Amino acid sequence: MERICRECGAPLTGRSDKKFCSDGCRTSWHNRRYCAMLSKAAAVNRTLMHNRKLLEAVYDKGIRRISLTDGALAGFDIRYFTSVETPLLRSAVYHCYEFSYVLSRGKLCRLAKAT
Ligand SMILES: [Zn+2]
Repeated sequence: MERICRECGAPLTGRSDKKFCSDGCRTSWHNRRYCAMLSKAAAVNRTLMHNRKLLEAVYDKGIRRISLTDGALAGFDIRYFTSVETPLLRSAVYHCYEFSYVLSRGKLCRLAKAT
């Protein structure tokens, strides 16, 4: 079975564990993978920052309990948070950067800001 370069598809010669025909192809392949990874990470960060911005706006209005369907939370994505505490026998507390909240019956409750 002919072995080929992962980047350009050129036939490989030499060592049996060789994956690229040249240093240039190895660098190109790794750079492309790294860029793809950065792009995915950037999308997650954008969603987290959007969630944080909405939480801050709601918090600054003095609101500590709000329906997830309220327009003030338009675009809030509950799948994204920075950490979660799951205390035994109590509701999970979600964190989005310095903000924390509990989700209950379609509402975001106990919104707090770490100082
Ligand atoms: Zn190559």
